[in-house]
Amino acid sequence: MARKIDPLAKVDNFDRRKSKYAPIKQALTAVYGELNWSRNLDGMDELISCILSQSTTDTNRDRAFDRLKARFPTWEAARFAAIDDVIEAIKPAGLANQKAPRIQDALGVIFDKVGEYSIDFLNELSVDEAKDWLVSLKGVGPKTAAIVLCFAYGRAAFPVDTHIFRVSKRIGFLPEKMSANDAHPVMEAMTPAEDYYQFHIQLIQHGRDTCQARKPACERCPISAHCDYFHAATEAASH
Ligand code: SF4
Repeated sequence: MARKIDPLAKVDNFDRRKSKYAPIKQALTAVYGELNWSRNLDGMDELISCILSQSTTDTNRDRAFDRLKARFPTWEAARFAAIDDVIEAIKPAGLANQKAPRIQDALGVIFDKVGEYSIDFLNELSVDEAKDWLVSLKGVGPKTAAIVLCFAYGRAAFPVDTHIFRVSKRIGFLPEKMSANDAHPVMEAMTPAEDYYQFHIQLIQHGRDTCQARKPACERCPISAHCDYFHAATEAASH
């Protein structure tokens, strides 16, 4: 079996990258304030919502999730429903032919393990054990595992979504060639565990408001002094 390479071993200049955390956190907190963890969805809802969220917008994910819950009032009903009915219910999320069997499969695995439709047993496991269990479900990757653990259970997992992946590469927390899956443990190493939830939300908001994919608004960015992309662009413009 191939030996698993620690993603941290792929990070050059680790200390320089990590030193960006404190001033950036301070600047983003000045803009977005302190954010305390609060649970929005329980573990099951968060997990199914995440499976629905793959390759779609938050709005379409939420529409599909609401339709699924309205059509099947219990997870038992969703698990044993005709697959076409589940596909129909979650259609707004797209890729319904893939997502419906994944949902039914996850429900089956969960019930067979704990005898109920609940993943609260994850709280009894270490974060690494809980992540490993979640990613053993079909269609669940490191991002979904971290979202479920961080958002539904307040555990020390740092989810890296598309905004955080982009912004963190520009800033220089992550090396340019790092994959999204490898980015999770690296962001966890860059950030104090008690700040994962808060810093995750602040970086997403910064990505939406300022450091947008097509054209980052560097001229009004509160963290430009600590950003590798900004320094490289400024240097290139001066030559
Ligand atoms: S300076 Fe520009 S690239 Fe860097 S974080 Fe700010 S908006 Fe993004």
